[in-house]
Amino acid sequence: MTDWSLEYEGYDPDLEPLREALCTLGNGAFASRGAAPESEADGTHYPGTYIAGCYDRLTTEVAGREVTNEDLVNAPNWLVLRFRVGRGRWCEPSACELLEHRQELDMRRGVLTRHIRFRDRSGRTTTLTQRRFVSMSDPHLAGLETTLLAEDWSGRVTVRSGLDGGVVNAGVARYRALRGDHLGPPEVEAVDAETIALVCETNGSRIRIAEAARTRVTRDGGSPIAVGRRFVTDGGLVAHDLAVELTEGVPVTVEKIVALATSRDPAVYESGVAAKEWVAHADGFEQLLRQHVLAWDRLWRRFDIRLDGSERAQLILRLHVFHLLQTGSENTIDLDVGVPARGLHGEAYRGHIFWDQLFILPFLNLRLPALSRSLLAYRYRRLPAARWAAASAGYRGAMYPWQSGSDGREESQTLHLNPRSGRWLEDASRRQRHIGIAIAYNVWLHYEATGDIHFLRFRGAPMLLEIARFFASLCVYDRATDRYRIRGVMGPDEYHDGYPDREERGLDDNAYTNVMTVWVLLRALAILELLPEHYREEIGDALGLTREELDRWDSITHKMTVPFHDGRIISQFEGYADLEELDWAGYAERYGDIQRLDRILEAEGDSPNRYKASKQADVLMLFYLLSAEEVVELLRRLGYGFDVDDIAANVEYYLARTSHGSTLSRLVHSWVLARLDRERSWEFLLNALESDIADVQGGTTAEGIHLGAMAGTVDLVVRGYTGMVTRDGVLWLDPRLPVELSALEFSVHYRGQRLEIAIDRGHLRVRSRPGLAAPIRVGLIDEIVELSPGDAREVPIDT
Ligand code: BGC
Repeated sequence: MTDWSLEYEGYDPDLEPLREALCTLGNGAFASRGAAPESEADGTHYPGTYIAGCYDRLTTEVAGREVTNEDLVNAPNWLVLRFRVGRGRWCEPSACELLEHRQELDMRRGVLTRHIRFRDRSGRTTTLTQRRFVSMSDPHLAGLETTLLAEDWSGRVTVRSGLDGGVVNAGVARYRALRGDHLGPPEVEAVDAETIALVCETNGSRIRIAEAARTRVTRDGGSPIAVGRRFVTDGGLVAHDLAVELTEGVPVTVEKIVALATSRDPAVYESGVAAKEWVAHADGFEQLLRQHVLAWDRLWRRFDIRLDGSERAQLILRLHVFHLLQTGSENTIDLDVGVPARGLHGEAYRGHIFWDQLFILPFLNLRLPALSRSLLAYRYRRLPAARWAAASAGYRGAMYPWQSGSDGREESQTLHLNPRSGRWLEDASRRQRHIGIAIAYNVWLHYEATGDIHFLRFRGAPMLLEIARFFASLCVYDRATDRYRIRGVMGPDEYHDGYPDREERGLDDNAYTNVMTVWVLLRALAILELLPEHYREEIGDALGLTREELDRWDSITHKMTVPFHDGRIISQFEGYADLEELDWAGYAERYGDIQRLDRILEAEGDSPNRYKASKQADVLMLFYLLSAEEVVELLRRLGYGFDVDDIAANVEYYLARTSHGSTLSRLVHSWVLARLDRERSWEFLLNALESDIADVQGGTTAEGIHLGAMAGTVDLVVRGYTGMVTRDGVLWLDPRLPVELSALEFSVHYRGQRLEIAIDRGHLRVRSRPGLAAPIRVGLIDEIVELSPGDAREVPIDT
């Protein structure tokens, strides 16, 4: 294992689902799991391909109710490549005597290589080497190259190179009681001697997905050779069966180039026509690979972070950047998509988009701002849907959905299955109104990182103001306390969706939601001040903002309720103090892994709502998103006594009461500890880094990686440990590296300049690359300097 590749020696069917997810290849437009090309979905393998933004809905009857779910559709499997000797059975190397089995994911080049030597029942020894890529340089293309070497035999083999439209969504066991047959029967075609094609249509969204595959054969590295071909169809599968003569010791290579198009693609007449055209114009495997590697090289120059001190951390941080870029890259810009919480890597959470973008966009803003702008445009286009949702719930402004898919309606399920108890349960997670706060936060940070006033005028401000309006309309004035309150919501901690003794779901005065509401309202008011007058007038007219409304917003920023208990511990919500303490040691002893305490308690007939026990950071999210000083300032503005010195007690309090049932949890705790206790912060980071590579939740990574935690861990190193803050037009840096990190290097984009930043034990160096941008202001520790393109600064640091 180098710090650029994942290597897997040997074959273990139990580990295959995890390996497939981690070896997914994608280009930000589509991605395919690292399944063996000869495999089908069979309990061990799951060859899923997912196209950004390609959703479909199906209705199923569950527990006596009709449930409609929208899924990111599993597209036809383009990988299919099987072979058999003579008229024998299709060969499954894993079912033969495996002499060697090695797989390598090369992250620098975006290539997955598989090397197998096996002996079949007739004693024939064969070597198979496969390389594949999903082109980063051409978002519609992918390639699979298979080299067969008959070591001690000669004979005719049939190679089947196909496209399988007979696939369904069945990648998550818990969802299997729900329908997954999104694709109608495929239309298939033998295009020419080398090419086959298939077009499927999704059942409800009527998206036409087309794939075309061109297969060529070469012997011993030479030019293509003529082979016998048969066009075959079998159920949803369309294929070319190639008759290939294998001669002992002479390698034969089968090269398959695939084009994928959908009716959602821009610049396309019809998806079937497009896929055929793209594949007809495509270069050969080697040339395409070369372009693909160059595209990755460009991305790495922008995104890589180099650190000294931990090889494992270096490797995993690259893995996290790699999967982030495979889900969202330059190819994603201008697509109407968000970043699914679980990537394009599996079917968990049905490819929906959550608040997890809060952990992703701040990182992208400083690397590829055009991408984060595009991801925010996805939200902007769904502003009307968020307005309808608010209106139909009796509110004003925009109520964004907790889970979002195609058109921005609420996609959260109403029922979910507890696999431990087998019971279908009411799902109240849509009450996590704080999703709107995450969007507003991302809008503001995008503006801070780019200074893009046009973005603010035409995209950011309308969203942020409508979100502010929604949160203001959630607030009710309580005469008794002379304060505003927000009732009936859920905070980020999903273990608490209500009170133990109250029928109706929802909590009152979730501190995170309330404090961040004040933050959003303050930002909204600040934006109106900051916009040039003519923009302010335009937006004010368009949204119908009135003086009374703005005065009410201002009043809320002085009088919002924030509950406290035990002195200066911010209560997660009103009434939290009355809950029981959980016997953490007892549960850990009885169950071992208690990350999913909610399922354990429910199966026992109990509920986490009774306990001071959280799935993930909730109050502490405040210290993740805001600086210590900002939180103190907000609380003081509201008239509460709170000092920077009170933060440590809050962190300890909630740390002792959190099960880390979400991969986001350890990340957030690591972040909030970064300035308080570097050693523990580093420990939490190391744990958070293991989330997917070691599948710490025991089975969830196979269903899709956790992109929030992936991006968040990289961001923690880049922003958290360097004290990087973008505020009031200044990029601040104040590094405090964990002792284990002796040096760190990366680049960021800030307001049009590209900065190379290097930090070691004694120095902080910032160098701006030459260019045309206007000077920027950079805060080095405590001094603001002006930097023009080409300038460099170095300051001593004591870290
Ligand atoms: C977490 C949420 C998160 C979701 C999707 C859940 O387990 O509790 O905070 O948004 O997963 O990643």
